[in-house]
Amino acid sequence: MDLLEYQGKQLFAKHGVPVSPGRPVTTVQEAVSAADELGYPVVVKAQVLIGGRGKAGGIKLAGDREAVEQHAGAILGMEIRGLRVRELWIEEASDIEDEYYAAFVFDRSAKKPMAMFSRMGGMDVEAITAEDPEAMRMLHVDPLLGFQDFHGRRLAFEAGIPEDVIRPVGEMLGKLYEVFVSEDATLVEVNPVVVKTDRSVNALDAKVTIDGNALYRHPQTAEMRNISDESPQERLAKERGLTYVPLDGNIGILGNGAGLVMSTLDVVAQAGGKPANFLDAAGGSKAEAITSAVEVILSNERVSALLLNIFGGITRCDEVAQGLIAAFRQVEPTVPFVVRLDGTNGPEGRALLAEAELPNLHIEETMLGAAEKVVELAG
Ligand code: GDP
Ligand code: MN
Repeated sequence: MDLLEYQGKQLFAKHGVPVSPGRPVTTVQEAVSAADELGYPVVVKAQVLIGGRGKAGGIKLAGDREAVEQHAGAILGMEIRGLRVRELWIEEASDIEDEYYAAFVFDRSAKKPMAMFSRMGGMDVEAITAEDPEAMRMLHVDPLLGFQDFHGRRLAFEAGIPEDVIRPVGEMLGKLYEVFVSEDATLVEVNPVVVKTDRSVNALDAKVTIDGNALYRHPQTAEMRNISDESPQERLAKERGLTYVPLDGNIGILGNGAGLVMSTLDVVAQAGGKPANFLDAAGGSKAEAITSAVEVILSNERVSALLLNIFGGITRCDEVAQGLIAAFRQVEPTVPFVVRLDGTNGPEGRALLAEAELPNLHIEETMLGAAEKVVELAG
């Protein structure tokens, strides 16, 4: 789970990593009152899960109320590489003297966390590192020993930063490691770490990824939502514990098993159609599970036809058919459904469906046949 900058900074603050005060807002009016509270100048920052916001015009310095109004108005609703900005972070502006780069990542081949630090931050780090590999200093962390302040100072010293900031940078690295471990992060990246004109050191940006499998240990983090790029379907699916990926077509897809759903997407595309989503209903043959998944798909108004692709293995097709019939009576869909039901007890399942005479339901035996039918019905 990726966190927005300000959510990452909330975790930083919790562990004593120095950050600037700020407020998350969703309207121009809130932006202005936040800036009034913080005092001018402030920085208006787009909150989207993508880097390079600065270059895209999503980060602006504002010296007074009018400037905040103007920038917040321009940035809210703006699209940054496909992501719509719906939230801003208004932060007390910093007087910057220097920009560094710091990160903790997992080095899977070494089976250890790795600390990274460079005195060339703020810009395109990959490009700089490709040109001058020595600029990026790295250190594997022994998980038992942990990352001590002296490790941090060593990295900072090797990176060649001025002597007076080696100690505070080393300290910050130690605290970032604490965030990495105690928040179950798989990535903690700060670009830039800044040295301000008063020589204090501050995390000016935050990119934090939390291990999704560890979220049960962090209920507060699990609650952090990103209203920018989560569709209502994604939110609903998450609430219901379904694996759902939005796509931009009009054919709703539901299958059992991730592999089967993937192939269904391919076959629909091959038949000339555009899938609206990926949804794996896993082993759910019960009416409840099917109803729940169908509701998520149909809450997307773009869906004009739906393909249910079920292959009965351990799950029996007659059970699935019964679940489907009950689900249909409850949801009463208005868009056409194509059902491909095959595998264990396939004929029995199809016979049950045929007998039920559900309106708008078409039964197919093969995957390609079902894909062609749904493409035709979707129009
Ligand atoms: P990114 O472009 O998405 O990585 O967003 P950042 O938060 O890293 O900001 C991009 C750049 O904006 C930074 O590298 C800074 O140069 C600049 N910036 C951000 N906040 C401030 C600030 O408080 N004061 C000044 N002077 N510049 C800032
Ligand atoms: Mn940045």
